[in-house]
Amino acid sequence: MMSESIAIVWHRRDLRLKDNAAAYHALKNHERVLPIFIFDKNILDQLPEKADRRVTFIHREISRIKKELEEMDSSLKIFYSSPEKAFEQLLNSYNIEAVYTNRDYEPYARQRDSEIEKLLKEKGIAFHSFKDQCIFEKDEVLKKDGGWYSVFTPYSRVWKDLLQDSDLKPYPNEKYFGHYLKSKVLPEISLEEMGFEEKSDHIPDADLPKKIIENYHNTRDLPAEQGTTRMSVHLRFGIVSIRQLAKKGLELNEKWLNELIWRDFYMMILWYNPHVVKSAFRPKYDAIPWRNNEKEFEAWQKGETGYPLVDAGMRELNETGFMHNRVRMVTASFLCKHLLIDWRWGEQYFADKLLDFELSSNNGGWQWAAGTGCDAAPYFRVFNPSSQAKKFDPQSKYIKKWVPEIWEGDYVSPIVEHKMARARALKTYKSVLG
Ligand code: FAD
Repeated sequence: MMSESIAIVWHRRDLRLKDNAAAYHALKNHERVLPIFIFDKNILDQLPEKADRRVTFIHREISRIKKELEEMDSSLKIFYSSPEKAFEQLLNSYNIEAVYTNRDYEPYARQRDSEIEKLLKEKGIAFHSFKDQCIFEKDEVLKKDGGWYSVFTPYSRVWKDLLQDSDLKPYPNEKYFGHYLKSKVLPEISLEEMGFEEKSDHIPDADLPKKIIENYHNTRDLPAEQGTTRMSVHLRFGIVSIRQLAKKGLELNEKWLNELIWRDFYMMILWYNPHVVKSAFRPKYDAIPWRNNEKEFEAWQKGETGYPLVDAGMRELNETGFMHNRVRMVTASFLCKHLLIDWRWGEQYFADKLLDFELSSNNGGWQWAAGTGCDAAPYFRVFNPSSQAKKFDPQSKYIKKWVPEIWEGDYVSPIVEHKMARARALKTYKSVLG
């Protein structure tokens, strides 16, 4: 039975009601706005672990938003299905004036959105999408000749030149909260109904640590300290607004702002180069003859390579779903260079384990470490995991925490000898790159 005439705001990775571009425009332009969220079967069915912190995290944040809406006598309509099925159901239940959503730049999301847009267009319904998850998107930071940047430093310079106060201004969603559709409390879907188990340990809280940002340039490279902000998962799912964080970066510490610009940069790279999901940014690197030794891959995964910093990082990842950035670089480099294992194996492993998994940054980080990406370290620069440990964990505090058996005299021998591995990596890379 066709009933109310409404607009829809479709939340995906923007799990907040305040300072939200799509929600703002929907509420401003329509008097009855139904917010929805779809637990997307296409994505969830592919997750290997049933106790996945990310699903718990999203589920928790969805419940929070729903409660916030219910305090305004509205609610959140939640689906557990494919997006197509959810929209077919919505089309059967409501007279939809328009659908509003925030843009997502990953290949799957682009495909999904163009299919939903097509479905809606056939019914004469507008699909409005907005920039919300980054400061500058797609083609907003370009070279003078109109091309996109493949190198970070000039990109970041132009990014900063372009920045206006208005880019950081929060959307005043609160002004129009009265336009949320009045509704009875709508049903929730439990994790169990979706075949998942709760796993809520090691989820950092969303308060912005001002002190850490102020001191970031001193502490960012020390994995033993709480010296980075742990904002990544909150940015990944839009619990906090990027505009709010970039404003803080601008006010407090440019070094930290630069990290947020890296995030925009990799999103832009993915937008222009969707091929990076499956292959090297620079095609000739696809010819590298990886050794792909499965036993060594397993030792790397478990943190049993005999290299303390590598093992500490992998164990931190396995145990908590997080790994410090410096250690991400070292473990990734070790896999690609020392073991000559295809960077895509490591990328997939990180994608399965990281709470903050973000396709663009993960792919960018892996291709950087493998030397196959844009603005990558030149292939002949091979991290020495022992000197990295000395430099960034000088008192072995981080290593002691994760690999205590070193001090009990019960530690595995290195699975590969550094000097030999370095020479082998250089020879292998050179054989295809000339
Ligand atoms: P902070 O140091 O406090 O930085 C603030 C924010 O800036 C981060 O939350 C993140 O959103 C962004 N940022 C920081 N460094 C980078 C970077 N190098 N590239 C892009 N954005 C950055 N980051 C992810 O968010 N998801 C990933 O899946 C991911 N995979 C990575 C894989 C590899 C191999 C490497 C080398 C890096 C990866 N990074 C990834 C980047 C970085 O390691 C994390 O963003 C950072 O460790 C998150 O911790 P934080 O929130 O405390 O960061």
